[in-house]
Amino acid sequence: MKVGVLALQGAFASHHAALTATGVNPTEVRTPQDLADVDALVIPGGESTTMLMLLDSSQIRTPLVERIQNGLPVFGTCAGMILLSTNMADGRPDQQPLGLIDLDVRRNGYGRQIASFEADLDISGLDHPFRGVFIRAPLAERIGPKVEVLASVDGHGVLCQQENILVSSFHPELTNDLRLHQLFVDRAFAAQ
Ligand code: GLN
Repeated sequence: MKVGVLALQGAFASHHAALTATGVNPTEVRTPQDLADVDALVIPGGESTTMLMLLDSSQIRTPLVERIQNGLPVFGTCAGMILLSTNMADGRPDQQPLGLIDLDVRRNGYGRQIASFEADLDISGLDHPFRGVFIRAPLAERIGPKVEVLASVDGHGVLCQQENILVSSFHPELTNDLRLHQLFVDRAFAAQ
């Protein structure tokens, strides 16, 4: 199984390292050809405005939507969560996210860089808390009925899934805790 990390912009190197530490040999995805080769994909944090532009200019947007609609396991963190959502507030009016998970998010919904924070998260399925690092994180303002909330902060979902799509508003690649990457990889293997 090949696990890819979307490497157009943002925190892809840390995800690459975390995935490597789980024992897989990740590949970086920058072209539609790279995408065609992977069986699971991490979409990192970064700057969603830039990433959406790069998705279009690299002609990855359409094949990416098709692959995910056809069941490609995907894990979107922070800006990756924004990209996968249905609607984003505080984005550029001419940009639309991919519309693959039934969530409306607000970019930087917890405040600006200075309002970045950490929190111990109780995650369903994990036996002890996970340290969540939130950096200009998206706030889930509406969560659709098909979305399962696996962890929340102050009543807002911060780790959510809908079928093959897992999203976090925090950065699991910035801690040494590999449990979420491991969970994603294990599920992707199981889905083969
Ligand atoms: N605020 C960024 C955005 O809107 C996301 C921040 C992050 O990925 N750490 O794209």
